Amino acid sequence: MRIAVVGAGLGGVAAAVGLHRQGHEVTLFERGAELREKGTGIVVMPNGLRALDELFPLGEDQLYWFTDSLLHGPPSGAEEARREMPSLMADWHPLVTALIGATPPEDIYVDPIARLAEPLPSFAVDRIALLGDAAHAMSPDLGQGSSQAFEDAAVLTRHLSGAEPADAVERLLRYDAERRPRANRMMLGAARQSRLTSRTGISAWLRDLSLRAVPSRLATRQMATLWHV
Ligand SMILES: Cc1cc2nc3c(=O)[nH]c(=O)nc-3n(C[C@H](O)[C@H](O)[C@H](O)COP(=O)(O)OP(=O)(O)OC[C@H]3O[C@@H](n4cnc5c(N)ncnc54)[C@H](O)[C@@H]3O)c2cc1C
Repeated sequence: MRIAVVGAGLGGVAAAVGLHRQGHEVTLFERGAELREKGTGIVVMPNGLRALDELFPLGEDQLYWFTDSLLHGPPSGAEEARREMPSLMADWHPLVTALIGATPPEDIYVDPIARLAEPLPSFAVDRIALLGDAAHAMSPDLGQGSSQAFEDAAVLTRHLSGAEPADAVERLLRYDAERRPRANRMMLGAARQSRLTSRTGISAWLRDLSLRAVPSRLATRQMATLWHV
């Protein structure tokens, strides 16, 4: 079957590779002039790793850090961000602020982060299906953005296995039925986590106190439900 994948991001490339391996004729469209090699590194959770055939890890002598802050205006440039970060993270371990201070500005990328306000009612319409951030852009609080995109790609590939054009609509509806409940649950969970982590003052203190009271076995079980497909 001839399939157009629009967007050569993590999800689009993963889907294109999977569908191509299934024997489909895939064309991958990307609006950017070139594929960005430099940019952000990502942490891929176990469920994302399971959905991936191949990984491109950082070299052993490299370190990637990521931090996000709630802004009330446009994001600043890299140099300004590096200057502001230590005061925003004054109560963190001194090694953290030292690490930020030691990072050359040319290695710092500042990107605005947006998320969908509400879950979508469907990921598939007729012969078109959404995957990745286009379907369920979420805040980074659960570290699940790429893993959910990889899960989408794996499930989409599975449902389109052996499909002919006449099967497309039904197969995409099956993809939607399998992926949407879990991906939307992750999206809502990330939004809840974001509200929890962005607390300040007494409310943050109360949060920390109650989180410390959660038995580690329960916390581990909660993580396991995220990573279990
Ligand atoms: C700073 C930062 C750190 C992150 N860290 C993590 C992390 O540690 N772990 C994690 O799991 N996730 C992380 N994420 C989230 C993760 O990067 C995304 O969830 C993931 O990249 C989504 O993949 P995607 O393919 O859906 O979208 P994208 O990777 O955004 O790709 C979309 C592509 O589509 C292209 N495109 C858009 N419109 C068109 C068009 N009309 N025509 C053609 N091409 C088009 C774009 O140019 C882009 O290349 C992070 C995100 C940010 C911003």
